[in-house]
Amino acid sequence: MGKPTGFMEHERVEAPRRSVEEQVRDYEEFHQVYAEGEVVRQAARCMDCGIPFCNAGVMLEGETIGCPLGNCIPEINDLVYHSCYEDAYRRLTRTHPFPEFTGRVCPALCEGSCTLGEHEPPVSIKEIEHFIDARAVGGPLRKPRAPLRRTGRRVAVVGSGPAGLACAHTLNRLGEKVVVFERDDRPGGLLMYGIPTMKLAKGVVLARVAQMEDEGVEFRLNAAVGRGTRPDAPRSKRGDDVSIDTLLADFDALVLCGGSTVARPLVVPGSSAPGVVPAMAYLNHSIRRLLNSDHPYQELLDAQGKDVVIVGGGDTGTDCVATALRQGARSVVQYQINAAMPSCRPADNPWPLLPRVLRTDYGQEEHAALFGHDPRVFGESVKEVLADSTGRVSGVVTVAYHSVRKNGRRVSTEVPGSEKNVPAQLVLVALGFSGPEPLLVEELDLARDAACKPLTDAGSYATSRRGVFAAGDMRRGQSLVVWAVMEGRDAAVECHNYLNSREL
Ligand SMILES: Cc1cc2nc3c(=O)[nH]c(=O)nc-3n(C[C@H](O)[C@H](O)[C@H](O)COP(=O)(O)OP(=O)(O)OC[C@H]3O[C@@H](n4cnc5c(N)ncnc54)[C@H](O)[C@@H]3O)c2cc1C
Ligand code: SF4
Repeated sequence: MGKPTGFMEHERVEAPRRSVEEQVRDYEEFHQVYAEGEVVRQAARCMDCGIPFCNAGVMLEGETIGCPLGNCIPEINDLVYHSCYEDAYRRLTRTHPFPEFTGRVCPALCEGSCTLGEHEPPVSIKEIEHFIDARAVGGPLRKPRAPLRRTGRRVAVVGSGPAGLACAHTLNRLGEKVVVFERDDRPGGLLMYGIPTMKLAKGVVLARVAQMEDEGVEFRLNAAVGRGTRPDAPRSKRGDDVSIDTLLADFDALVLCGGSTVARPLVVPGSSAPGVVPAMAYLNHSIRRLLNSDHPYQELLDAQGKDVVIVGGGDTGTDCVATALRQGARSVVQYQINAAMPSCRPADNPWPLLPRVLRTDYGQEEHAALFGHDPRVFGESVKEVLADSTGRVSGVVTVAYHSVRKNGRRVSTEVPGSEKNVPAQLVLVALGFSGPEPLLVEELDLARDAACKPLTDAGSYATSRRGVFAAGDMRRGQSLVVWAVMEGRDAAVECHNYLNSREL
């Protein structure tokens, strides 16, 4: 808790941000942190509620409430209220290895379950987390801390997204020798090549990786696992492929953190026209060009001067809006098939469940600042893609949808006669991801579900093959950074216990 009466004395104040008009002109991070006096006031709002739900991380009515990591939020707020920032960092990092990521990108599941949030705006837990981390950067608390004792065992982690990083970090601190295999040229998974620089500066990811290297974790980049073992699979041209057999022979255990990378396509007439692009290809190209200016420029992946249509919402759709605005798009419109969420909780979505309410993210705010309105069109989607005489996309036909809930599922039907023609020279498909690429799971012959996610028992990360574990989006399907970190951390502990049990 902070101060018992703090919630009656202080209003919620958001952390400062660059002005929207200014931030949309560059690719720099828009976050800023609280000043010291303000963070103390905000932490004081934590109200000694008795049974905090913000840190519960438990399932209620099929949804998780509170922080999945189990961060001890009231204790942390109390330490911040008393200006004990270093102790707050120590407390935070007992459950959370990477607050620098979530302090920037987490949707703050914790705040949806904050008791104060039942009647007032909740405690600004995420912004306080960001402040605590920012205070620690460059100081003794961020000094590399190698384990005092090594077990002599070796674990391979496949994938260096937040799940792989959390897994490698935890295993290393438990004394295991960890080698992370990453097929890309930079580490970080979607932290590096998915979430744009304005939301998460890439230096933040690289600083963490450098610290982990100093602590003894080995990163092998340009190293695709598994591709070389099947004669029909193309070998990576970029670096050394690593066969599954080599990993199984050289390591005592294997943790798969390969993410959920198979994108859902737009299946409508004309959608194969050049100019219809998966959102990830678009975002990836933009980030690579920023990090490496001699990365080959592709006009098809540039929004400059174009009318841009984005199909789908979510974080990916928002990031596409923000990137297209920075590239100088002529117009941007974002279609979401579902009706807009209500502005406050509906009766069937009471506290402490995650609020299902309309949120306006940075991309939409920026669009409103430049064009005077929100780019989202709810209850409509693309029915057909139109092409010009050269075959390139020239527009889309949209149609309105009527959505109803049947047996707990949303069913959408077209509204006859509601079709409209909309000009577009770039159509970005942000319809989410269906699951992991099948190759690794098939090669290891793991039990899997229809989406090719490795099956594990409830509360466990062990796959059907002894000594092989899976975590993050690859195991649970597309999700959030906080979930990936939690899964990587807990899979590491299970893997360590498994290795210990083998030696009994
Ligand atoms: C555009 C976008 C924006 C997002 N924004 C947010 C946000 O703001 N907040 C939030 O909480 N979540 C966000 N998410 C979701 C979040 O990024 C993911 O849930 C999270 O990154 C999953 O972590 P992961 O480690 O499981 O997988 P990933 O981050 O996908 O990492 C998997 C890694 O494994 C590597 N890999 C795969 N196969 C192999 C192989 N065979 N050999 C070697 N390496 C391999 C990949 O190259 C990749 O680096 C966003 C997602 C997207 C797509
Ligand atoms: S990681 Fe996310 S959910 Fe957990 S305390 Fe931080 S902001 Fe809240």
